[in-house]
Amino acid sequence: MKATLFIFPIGLLLTNSLKAQETKYPEPAPMRPAMTEYWQPQPKIVTPGKASEKAIEAPSDALVLFDGRDLSQWTNTKGEPAAWTVHDGVFTVKKGTGDIQTKQLFNDFQLHIEWRIPEGIEGTSQARGNSGIFLQGMYEIQILDCYENETYVNGQTGSIYKQTPPLVNAMNKPGEWNTYDIIYTAPTFKKDGTYRTPPRVTLLQNGILLQNNTTILGTTEYIGLPKVKEHGAGPIRLQDHGDPSAPISFRNIWIREL
Ligand code: MG
Repeated sequence: MKATLFIFPIGLLLTNSLKAQETKYPEPAPMRPAMTEYWQPQPKIVTPGKASEKAIEAPSDALVLFDGRDLSQWTNTKGEPAAWTVHDGVFTVKKGTGDIQTKQLFNDFQLHIEWRIPEGIEGTSQARGNSGIFLQGMYEIQILDCYENETYVNGQTGSIYKQTPPLVNAMNKPGEWNTYDIIYTAPTFKKDGTYRTPPRVTLLQNGILLQNNTTILGTTEYIGLPKVKEHGAGPIRLQDHGDPSAPISFRNIWIREL
């Protein structure tokens, strides 16, 4: 009887251990978009200084990505000609035609780009002038009309999307041009595909600091957490977001490789 009592628990242990090997671990619960969004504290509003009407021209060593004439430096994401609309020295998102990206690929760079939310734009939160700039085609710096339009702070203008909110809200009004100056350091990778050094970004909007050498944690996902994916040089990609508000415009885009 004593022997039986002793053996029984061992048998139970063996059975449980076999069951554990047969049973797969449960999948994590699916994430929802709102799980990676937070609304407070809202960054302080800083009114930018008045800019001159004329755009700042590219410096002598920059590669001009758009000079007001054509989209010859750009394609859609399939490598076909970019279908966005060039007019009056600017280009405007043509909704439904997809993102556009530079033909050339980049590592570390300084990028200057100007964008304008159309006057009279309607919509709220993320559905109001949504676009974005994907650094190396991977990491989105958000573009949105955040002039008197609140949204989750890690998705507002100048955020690293769903990661880091901007230090302040430095929006010009719809109808006025905004500038972004972006200084980007590409990541390096270990043999196992994880970051040896993560990507980093500094961002100024209208001359005001929004991101100060901020570490980018991984891809900027709408649903779920950032992912680390090994990659090399990549394009500058501009987002055709598909929100129902009027499309935004861009001008005067140039880049200096570092
Ligand atoms: Mg966006």
